[in-house]
Amino acid sequence: MIEIVLATANPHKVDEMRAIFAQLTPNTRLIGLGELGGTVPAEPAETGSTFEENSTIKAISYAKATGRTCLADDSGLEIDALGGRPGVISSHYCTDGQEAGMAREERDGANNNRVLRELEGVAPEQRNARFVCVMTLSSAQGAVLGQVRGTFEGRIGLSGEVPRGKDGFGYDPLFLVAPDFRRTSAELPGQEKNGVSHRRSAAEQMAKFVRSL
Ligand code: IMP
Repeated sequence: MIEIVLATANPHKVDEMRAIFAQLTPNTRLIGLGELGGTVPAEPAETGSTFEENSTIKAISYAKATGRTCLADDSGLEIDALGGRPGVISSHYCTDGQEAGMAREERDGANNNRVLRELEGVAPEQRNARFVCVMTLSSAQGAVLGQVRGTFEGRIGLSGEVPRGKDGFGYDPLFLVAPDFRRTSAELPGQEKNGVSHRRSAAEQMAKFVRSL
């Protein structure tokens, strides 16, 4: 059994990653940061300007702190009409990327409101967007063993038509899934989202690095 520490404190992401990797690399055990015992290592500052940079910072930092092989993911939403924003500040878009001590659900709601406000008056065909996930695998010593990028294409719905759906998290209630844009990613049952998501795509590419450990 290969053991890998998952560098995220987001329980939704831990669940999604476990479900995905269970299919791709069944002899791998993903250990959440909260399950390591002892104190959870300090979160490194995500000072990068790309998903690749931040994913690397997290993978190396947690690998060195735990002395274990570590898989980090950095993800977010890119909206074409907003020049790629919210991008790397997706999780704190409502506060311009600043950590303001808000609870995750409150933050998600405020982020979604900001996106809908900024897209007011923008026509449906101009509302293309994608979720991006960059995964980085670091050795226990902090050497990068592999890095991959997965994407999930869609469109931000119009105010009134979204938010919709009870599954998922973050921007899922706003995100109409390509190619038919009928359901939001919060309306896809978990299994279905895990089969098509940016995390799925990245995990499929990452599986070959994990298998070679
Ligand atoms: P991270 O924790 O720094 O990787 O930030 C990820 C942020 O991007 C989350 O807090 C969400 O706002 C957004 N995000 C990433 N993946 C998803 C997804 O699958 N659905 C909805 N929002 C997502």
